[in-house]
Amino acid sequence: MSAPRPEIWIKTTSAGLYCQPGDFYIDPLRPVPRAVITHGHGDHARSGNDRVLATTGTIAIMRERYGEAAGGSLQPLAYGETIAAGDVAVRLMPAGHVLGSAQVVLEYRGSRVVVSGDYKRRSDPTCAPFEPCACDTFITEATFGLPVFRHPPDTQEIDKLLHSVALFPERCHLVGVYALGKCQRVLALLRRAGYEAPVYLHGALIKLTELYESLGIRLGPVLSLSGVAREALRGQIVLAPPSATADPWSRRLPEPLVAMASGWMRVRQRAKARGVELPLVISDHADWDELTATIDEVGAEEIWVTHGREEALVHHATKKGYRARALTLTGFEEEE
Ligand SMILES: [Zn+2]
Ligand SMILES: [Zn+2]
Repeated sequence: MSAPRPEIWIKTTSAGLYCQPGDFYIDPLRPVPRAVITHGHGDHARSGNDRVLATTGTIAIMRERYGEAAGGSLQPLAYGETIAAGDVAVRLMPAGHVLGSAQVVLEYRGSRVVVSGDYKRRSDPTCAPFEPCACDTFITEATFGLPVFRHPPDTQEIDKLLHSVALFPERCHLVGVYALGKCQRVLALLRRAGYEAPVYLHGALIKLTELYESLGIRLGPVLSLSGVAREALRGQIVLAPPSATADPWSRRLPEPLVAMASGWMRVRQRAKARGVELPLVISDHADWDELTATIDEVGAEEIWVTHGREEALVHHATKKGYRARALTLTGFEEEE
């Protein structure tokens, strides 16, 4: 008997991607009885599922964000371990996106499907690196699925920030970062570049940063902004959620120089529209080269593309001889 075609057993439904013979959803959009969660970002890890399977890191993040509502039961699965769900073998492998992030490897009657979740291929001191898994069908994200998106080395972007801090010692550098992943990665990259001074954190970033520390990720000295005198922040680096950088909140800082760490900073108009003086192209998603190289590396015959700019990647894969299609899954945000 030949291996079943992927569409026979992996379905796109209004609640998201559904594995029929295993009877579970992956990153469901609304509460379901059984969910496998790839990582802790809010558009992937939603609250209210009855049973959740995820890595220890993702479960810790969900507990931090949702408390009791994180799920009826939360079952951790270590990277590389296999668990059976009905006739389906389920394994989680590192995706290199944020702490705890995983690809979901599914095997059913000789057919292997890998759901990438969000991923990147560059080294990130705050999470385990992406591990390519050979498969028959690869379901890839495509957040930056256009050839224009080529992320520069992160060391170069961090150097830009440190150069600016040295150049404008009277100004406070306010860097917009997402609370989960980007904040901690920027901290780790600053440390790696030799920056040892305390970094000030907006209140919304503190809990998850403490969680990373508690899970063994060293991020160096961080301080809360509360009670800190305005003048003491001259020449300092402050991290805040992207929304706070444009807020009246930022006026409490001395001569803030607004930076933003995001893959979208590649698009000048976006940086401009957000009043970003110093765009830093630091992304937790694969860029075009990483996406296309990964497709080649996993050796799948069939590529399903979701969650971003599907068309260009589908076109590219088709031209290279893959069977490729765009999945119409909704509910995912441009989280960067
Ligand atoms: Zn994500
Ligand atoms: Zn995502």
